[in-house]
Amino acid sequence: MLKALQNSLLSIVFPQECSTCTRQVDDIRDGIACGECWAATRIFDGSEMLCHKCGAYFDTTAAPVPVFCHKCDDHHYDRAAAAGVYEKALSASIINLKSTPFLPDRLKAIVPAAVERAGFTKADVLVPIPLSKQRLIERGYNQSEMVASIVLRFSGIPVDRSSLARKVHTPIHRVAMDNKARELTVKNAFAVTRPKLIAGKAVLLIDDVFTSGATASNCARVLKRSGATEVNIFTLARAVMT
Ligand SMILES: [Zn+2]
Ligand SMILES: [Zn+2]
Repeated sequence: MLKALQNSLLSIVFPQECSTCTRQVDDIRDGIACGECWAATRIFDGSEMLCHKCGAYFDTTAAPVPVFCHKCDDHHYDRAAAAGVYEKALSASIINLKSTPFLPDRLKAIVPAAVERAGFTKADVLVPIPLSKQRLIERGYNQSEMVASIVLRFSGIPVDRSSLARKVHTPIHRVAMDNKARELTVKNAFAVTRPKLIAGKAVLLIDDVFTSGATASNCARVLKRSGATEVNIFTLARAVMT
């Protein structure tokens, strides 16, 4: 009742149109997308067929045995998992997160189950994918740290914000960029600044979106070189590559 009243008051004060369709956002917990767009967004529940290593989406129904896309065979991370497909309400919320440090409740709510389903709660440390110093100054916050703080809240796994650094200022990746271009922009972009804190640890990298896996792979490469025993990556969304 109170929630409904709060929502209706807010919609009077801040009437908001859904960022992906023309409907009105009725529930403030949905953020910038409406309930219908959220309902149309594929949020993973464990029943899908995904690449066992990189999480690439194959089909709506899981196979009885682990399947692999093999495009990720030489990637350095162990496994990648996401909460859903980078589309509709999820992609709109993630694009918005790059300009507004805000995660809607609806998005926060899908994180714990996705992390637990992947078995990632066994990690020793959460490492958000860092921004370059220049981008951090421009943006004022790192959106990956915001995602990491959700994982910290339910898992209690500590966040390490300073052992991994982005050495070079790379252009922002676009979903439309091809894999080769992505690979080149992140090659040698990351360095472990405090290897003693990484050695012997199972690391869970955290990012907003997983596209080609180039960023995750390059981070995993330097973390493993510093003695990380395992490196997995959790992202809010997984781009479906064509
Ligand atoms: Zn909508
Ligand atoms: Zn794969």
